[in-house]
Amino acid sequence: MTAAKRILIVEDEPAIADTLIYVLNSSGYQTEHVGLLQTALTKLQTDSFSLAILDVGLPDGNGFDLCRQLRRFSDIPVIFLTAHGDEIDRIVGLEIGADDYVTKPFSPREVAARVGVILRRLNAVTGTDQAPTLAEQFELDSQTGRIRYCGHLLDLTRYEFLLLKLLIEHPERIFSREQLLERIWQDPGDVFDRTVDTHIKTLRAKLRLAAADQDPIRTHRGLGYSLQSR
Ligand code: CA
Repeated sequence: MTAAKRILIVEDEPAIADTLIYVLNSSGYQTEHVGLLQTALTKLQTDSFSLAILDVGLPDGNGFDLCRQLRRFSDIPVIFLTAHGDEIDRIVGLEIGADDYVTKPFSPREVAARVGVILRRLNAVTGTDQAPTLAEQFELDSQTGRIRYCGHLLDLTRYEFLLLKLLIEHPERIFSREQLLERIWQDPGDVFDRTVDTHIKTLRAKLRLAAADQDPIRTHRGLGYSLQSR
């Protein structure tokens, strides 16, 4: 488990700050809130944050100035909260090194979603995050007989589903062809020599359609197949 990401919210309107704190906390982030530019600057210099959300209109200055000063010593992502969505604000905001902006009134969920997108993108670039685990890649719903892979609902035949389900439930375990036949193909009439291999092949093709750069099913020569957990 990695530590929760810390987000600094710089916003002088308590109601807006409160909804942001609430929605970000419930999305699994730690939050810290300040209402003044100077306090924010001190916090940013002395403490470490994964991302900052800056209100543009602050009582003792504006968020753009704060961002300019922040950029002298830090490159953490910044999202601006702007009261008016003029193009000028937008361009200025992005030119001085902001990553995104939202216009008030905004939906706190939208802000949380943007925070998530930016942090994921950052992790993808810096590689600080570990690869998704098997449980994160596959969502198995035994009730409906459906499996989602990397967010995509897989269109599986009955045997492909049973095969993948078995592999998901036993990560890293190697199943021989015989074991797979025995556990999945109860009706011997359905079974041919290459049955397992054929199904693995079509299953792999369907997984590739959902995520082209990954190949989670491993072939162990002379032993069988397993699902790798990373
Ligand atoms: Ca304000």
